[in-house]
Amino acid sequence: MRDPFKREVRSLRISVTPHCNLRCFYCHREGYNNSKDRSMTPEEIGEIVRAFLDFGIRKIKISGGEPLLREDLPEILENISNPRIEEISLTTNGTLLERYAQVLKDAGLHRVNVSLDTLDPEKYRQITGYGDVNVVKAGIERAIEVGLTPLKINYLVMKNTLEDLEDLMDYCREVGAILQVIELMPLDKTLRRYYVDITPIEKRIEEMADKVVKRRWMHNRRKYYIGDLEVEFVKPMDNTEFCRHCTRIRLTYDGYIKPCLLREDNLVDILTPLRRGEDIKEYIREGILRREPYFKL
Ligand code: SAM
Repeated sequence: MRDPFKREVRSLRISVTPHCNLRCFYCHREGYNNSKDRSMTPEEIGEIVRAFLDFGIRKIKISGGEPLLREDLPEILENISNPRIEEISLTTNGTLLERYAQVLKDAGLHRVNVSLDTLDPEKYRQITGYGDVNVVKAGIERAIEVGLTPLKINYLVMKNTLEDLEDLMDYCREVGAILQVIELMPLDKTLRRYYVDITPIEKRIEEMADKVVKRRWMHNRRKYYIGDLEVEFVKPMDNTEFCRHCTRIRLTYDGYIKPCLLREDNLVDILTPLRRGEDIKEYIREGILRREPYFKL
C-alpha cells in the first residue's frame, strides 16, 4: 500500500524492548515509548507481522533498546519467519552477539547491523557508559562466522569519532563487513555540539570509489564500492530526499504503529485491538495513512 505521499511501505522496524545494557550518550531511544507498561509477546508480534504482509511489507528489522536482552528473541524470530519476507535483520550493540549468534541464525535471522563508533577501547567506554569494544568485536566476528551476513557496522559520526573512519574502514575490510556511516541526529542542545555534517566524508569516499549504487527501496541511499569494501551513508537530518524515498514504518515494543522515527504524536495503538480480537488491518491502514515526510520541500 502507498501512503498519501505515494510512498510504498516495504520495511517494518520492530522495537522489541525499551531496555538497553549500554548508555550511549547520544541515544535517540527509538525503542522507548512511555505510554503503557505492556509489551508484545512473540505470538502477538508474529500476528501483527503477518497482517502487515498484505500491505507490502517485505523486510523486517528488529531493534530496541537492545533486542538481545529479550530472552525470547529466538521465539520472536520463529514467529515472524515467513516465505513472503525477503529479509529479517537485527540492529544490536553486539555485546551479547558472540553468545547468541548461532541461536539467532538457527531461529531464522538473516543478517545483523552492529553499532560500533570507534575501535578505541577507552573512547568506546566513554561513549557507551561501560561497554567493552573487544567483546563487541568478538560478537561481530562470530556473527560473520555463523553467516549473519552481509554484516553492517553502524558508525555514528560525531566530533569525537570523526577520526575513527580510517580504522573502521580497515576493520571492515579485515573482517568482511559493510561500513554504514551515519550522521548524528542532534536532538538537543548538548548533542548539537557533537554534530558533524557527513557530506564531505561522502564526497571523499565517492572520489575513492570504483562503483556507486543507489538503493531504490531505502531512502535512495547511495552505496560506494572501494575494492572489496562497501560503504553506505545514512543522512536523515533535513534531508527531503531521504524522507521522500522512505519506505519504512515502525512498531514500538508496546504495540503502537509509529509512522515516523521523529514523531511521537501520530502513533496508532494496534495491540489493544489485537487483544480484543478485532481485525487489525484497519489499524495498519490508519498507520500507513498517517505517514508523512518529516522533512519536505
Ligand atoms: N541497541 C541497538 C544498537 O545499539 O544498535 C539498537 C538500538 S540503537 C538506538 C539503533 C541505532 O540508532 C544505532 O546504530 C545508533 O547508533 C543509532 N542512533 C542512536 N541515537 C542516534 C542519534 N541521536 N542520531 C543518529 N543515530 C542514532
